[in-house]
Amino acid sequence: MRIKVKKVQSPLYKIVGQVKRFNPKNTVFSRRFWDPDFQRLIKAYYDSQMKHIASRDQGYSLEDYALMGGSWHLQSFEGGLISASGCRGDVGLYRWMEPTPPILARLTWPPPKGYPLSIKDPAEASRIVKEAALFYGASAVGICKLNRTWIYSHIYDPATGVNEPLEIPEDYKFAVVILVEMRYEYLKASPFVKAAAETGLAYSKMAFLASSLAQFIRSLGYKAIPCGNDTALSIPLAIDAGLGQLGRNGLLITPWFGPRVRIAKVFTDLPLKPDQPIDFGVTEFCDNCKRCAEACEAGAISSGEMADHGPTPSNNPGVLKWYIDPEKCYKFWSENGVDCSTCIAVCPFSNPEGRAVEFIEAS
Ligand code: SF4
Ligand code: SF4
Repeated sequence: MRIKVKKVQSPLYKIVGQVKRFNPKNTVFSRRFWDPDFQRLIKAYYDSQMKHIASRDQGYSLEDYALMGGSWHLQSFEGGLISASGCRGDVGLYRWMEPTPPILARLTWPPPKGYPLSIKDPAEASRIVKEAALFYGASAVGICKLNRTWIYSHIYDPATGVNEPLEIPEDYKFAVVILVEMRYEYLKASPFVKAAAETGLAYSKMAFLASSLAQFIRSLGYKAIPCGNDTALSIPLAIDAGLGQLGRNGLLITPWFGPRVRIAKVFTDLPLKPDQPIDFGVTEFCDNCKRCAEACEAGAISSGEMADHGPTPSNNPGVLKWYIDPEKCYKFWSENGVDCSTCIAVCPFSNPEGRAVEFIEAS
């Protein structure tokens, strides 16, 4: 696939109503903690796993589930599973911490007078930050101004049930958005467990990458908040940061990996130079393609026109797009006994074979 990318002045999503900040208590993953319909699905999910393993179903072996367990390990124990569920950040590796001078790391606070040494040129600061993100293992990285519409309205703590309003201080003006590629050869196994092992591995990499990059920025003497799925909507931030466009499957489609990515982000007060959003014809392609909608066993992806709202309380209305049905999607995961990536695997933009990405000047 030959992909011609042009930079555009503003992101291509269209706001057509009043977009409210999303309350993370309403994601289907958070609803597992308080909505009886979804609480029942947790049991169905594990029952299905046990049945698959006992029946020695192909693609659902104990070894496959063990591979997945290993993949998720860093995210589960150090990233905090509730961050992957989107409920809340400020846990595990995603903890919010003060800047730490590298030489005095962990020995003293506040830092010595004259620290930090300010980086005067935002373009230079962006270069340094991107280089560090790639050094830690990011597949791609972009920068945008932090649009506060995308920050969650609340922090939801499933352990206590408390759903508190969230405000990120105004001095966090920028988001560094990090992509983690997921390998095509594993995702192609969806809806079998091997594909989910690849997803888990990407989550563990997200926790490592976001926390390492946040600590890098803190070590320069600036503030940094690392986030996984928590704290803000990742996809619009990635679009703002010039990393892709929104597809019919409800996912970020990137020029380099299609939708085969997970997204982490770091908010900072370090002055940076934002990237421009991009256009490589995803909307027009998705208009005709519909391959994800046809392949989805749950019927969760629209094959119709774009709309300004979705079918469930887990959708956030006000943007003109193809809304997926996350309730149908999650119910399928529960019956399947493992999560699914079929709408990623079948997308023509996912196939790495013969891919050529070219940035062209806007006419
Ligand atoms: S993850 Fe699977 S069930 Fe969910 S929308 Fe994609 S294809 Fe459908
Ligand atoms: S499968 Fe086709 S319709 Fe679906 S997101 Fe990919 S390009 Fe768009």
